[in-house]
Amino acid sequence: MQLSSRISVLGKSGGGWDLFVRAKTMVEAGEPIINLTVGDHDIATERAILDAMYRSAVSGKTGYGVATGRLAFRERIASLVEARTGVPTDHDNVVILNGGQTALLAAHLATLTPGDQVAVFDPYYPTYPATISAAAGRCVLIPTLTDDNFDPDLDELERIAPDMRSLLINSPNNPTGNVYAREALERIADTAQRHDLWVVSDEVYWTQVWDGEHCSIRALPDMMERCFVVGSMSKSHAMTGSRVGWLIGPKHAMPAIADLVVATTFGVPEFIQEAALFALDQGTDLEQRIAAPFRARRAIALDILDAQQLVRYAVPKGGMYLMLDIRSTGLSGEQFAERLLSDAQVAVMPGESFGNCAAGHVRIALTCDEEAIGIALTRLLSCAADWASGRS
Ligand code: PMP
Repeated sequence: MQLSSRISVLGKSGGGWDLFVRAKTMVEAGEPIINLTVGDHDIATERAILDAMYRSAVSGKTGYGVATGRLAFRERIASLVEARTGVPTDHDNVVILNGGQTALLAAHLATLTPGDQVAVFDPYYPTYPATISAAAGRCVLIPTLTDDNFDPDLDELERIAPDMRSLLINSPNNPTGNVYAREALERIADTAQRHDLWVVSDEVYWTQVWDGEHCSIRALPDMMERCFVVGSMSKSHAMTGSRVGWLIGPKHAMPAIADLVVATTFGVPEFIQEAALFALDQGTDLEQRIAAPFRARRAIALDILDAQQLVRYAVPKGGMYLMLDIRSTGLSGEQFAERLLSDAQVAVMPGESFGNCAAGHVRIALTCDEEAIGIALTRLLSCAADWASGRS
């Protein structure tokens, strides 16, 4: 029996996982690999959050919950979003979902009729094309350039906008580290309004900004009724495995999102939601504690990179990653990552996993301690120099 076309296309987007799996297998076999592939923190979820999870579970929060998520948690997210963005937000704008990834799927299922086109800037987070396909939409990529620090090409967006139903943006960005300036977001908002586009804004790295400030496009005038904002506890609170996130959207849309929860996951476990609420109640101290190592590692990495000219980089203004342009070695990102793993025991993601515009690049997740990052980059640069000069 043949599988549906909708599901068969999903595996075709976002490569690079082979290398990740190889690196993981090598780590598990005890090989001394420095693994800078995926964006999973090198620290576990804080003990106090796990204690809150345990307390909640033993107090009986182990049954089915309500599809929208727990009211107190939704209220807490709404007040946080309102405080940080200035946009009036209450619990009716929020549905709790199983991580930002499920929120991305929900947003596209809510906005796309089969065949609708979604504009996405390339490079992109690798699940985007499959997420859009799963919602029967079509992903239309807009190229961006290393030399422009991967800033969004707003003229191209304007040119294709008449054929789009929606636009998916991600700031702070994975993989490029770009943080969109308010002016860029204003132009995006203007295009979206004139061409009547939905905007899905993936803001899962909102607590990790190193240069400039995070601006949510939903906060711009007349945007809240056409925006869905994807949020998550994964990156901000080192809770990737708890699978808890949310979607913020127009009030009239949220009952449909709750219907989708009933038709799919039946919601996020209540003890996870209570632990996440506890984590949010710890305030910005906890967020800053989680974010601080990435700021420090970024600084060390940039010092090392600035001492040479062979490998260029896009300045990471936020997030957990660094995109290196290794085209001067003559290798593709895939070849470079393969050889780096074999010859130098350093695992990085090939840029090609993130779209054509990241070809000839590798992405480094700053998910090891400062010493390991220093060693990994020194090895990477020495390999790049050898390979560029034809030495192997
Ligand atoms: N969006 C981006 C840009 C991401 O990098 C990730 C995770 N790496 C997600 C969404 C999904 O995160 P989660 O489902 O863990 O919240």
